[in-house]
Amino acid sequence: MPNATPDTAPMTLLRGAELVLPHGITDQGDVLLVGDRIAAVGGDLGAAVALGPVEVDASGHRAIPAFVDQHCHPIGGGGGGGPETQGFPIPVERFVEAGVGTVVGCLGNDSVVRRPEALLARVKGLRRHGFGAHLYTGEIGYPPETVTGSIRRDLALLDEVRGVKAAVGGIGSITTRHQLAALAGEAARGARTAGRAPVLHLHVEPALTSIALVGRAISRGDVDPTTVTVTHVNWNEAVLAEGIHLAGLGVNLDVTACIRPDYFPGAIAPEQAIRRLLDEVDPDRVTISSDAGGNHGIGDGTLLTHQPGLLLDTFVRALETDLVPVEQLVRVFSANPAARLGLADAGALTAGARADVLLMDRSSHRLEQFYLAGRRVLDAGTALVSDQAANERPDRNR
Ligand SMILES: [Zn+2]
Repeated sequence: MPNATPDTAPMTLLRGAELVLPHGITDQGDVLLVGDRIAAVGGDLGAAVALGPVEVDASGHRAIPAFVDQHCHPIGGGGGGGPETQGFPIPVERFVEAGVGTVVGCLGNDSVVRRPEALLARVKGLRRHGFGAHLYTGEIGYPPETVTGSIRRDLALLDEVRGVKAAVGGIGSITTRHQLAALAGEAARGARTAGRAPVLHLHVEPALTSIALVGRAISRGDVDPTTVTVTHVNWNEAVLAEGIHLAGLGVNLDVTACIRPDYFPGAIAPEQAIRRLLDEVDPDRVTISSDAGGNHGIGDGTLLTHQPGLLLDTFVRALETDLVPVEQLVRVFSANPAARLGLADAGALTAGARADVLLMDRSSHRLEQFYLAGRRVLDAGTALVSDQAANERPDRNR
């Protein structure tokens, strides 16, 4: 557990915020958090004061659900270019500073050292910290590494496993539609055994042949398009165009926050990609994720490990440039990914949902406070929990 002691309040009443709700915006309203759940949302919950909650003046702020990051590498990704290229694990404070309440982890390039078991253990740890936390079984390589020895067993037996990740078109990844069909079959059978809807989360490469293989498998009837999420669709114009075509067939499209023109030449800025997708496809099919924990070279041999904060950056940039209205952003960053993964209690400010609430300054868009499972974990923009502080504490047993 983190070393710093966060504010704990079994009952908190956030008062007078602009509320971004699933069916519109309430100019001024209250949110009551009891334990780890949202107990009530409304125009005026003043009557709840009698219950003795900690009252928070949220006027001048906007309350939105915490982000659901459906593609990141909590134990570090990378590693595809040698042991010195491993990405670093993501400390909890990075998720907190980014406003991420639900983490969905996956393996990256290296599944030899970064084992599925290690990812599962980290997901369990993130749950102990209060996060909604899940993982995909599978990985970049094919056939995939798993926890139990098979995709189907992982899905059926491990509560934390919400779907299957695979990569299409890369070296050692899925390269034929028959492999994709086999994997989709495993994903569907495993999900059915678990009593869930199948989720096939597909990493595509910048080369058009990669996403085109997904299209071929769908057009031949090998894969049910509504179970597929294609991630990294903003690599370039050609991939985005093919993604838009596939969305017409029922595929879900996931924009990646770290794929930006300053990091990857030819990339489409994530906020621009969101705007275009919302205009061109069913808005329920559009999501974003961070790909945090992955990395890329920045020219001189140095590697940059991506952080979850890229999500918040994208959210704020889309608002500042008036590119996407806040209610649409909340769908893309929270409601849609939650729905996609069958997480009925995340991604919206509604009674009964997880008490994962962000308070952002209405004019500066700065993230001021974050309630994670009802507990304040960030105040005045500063995380109150920290893996790093705990780990770097001087060893008193010496
Ligand atoms: Zn990734």
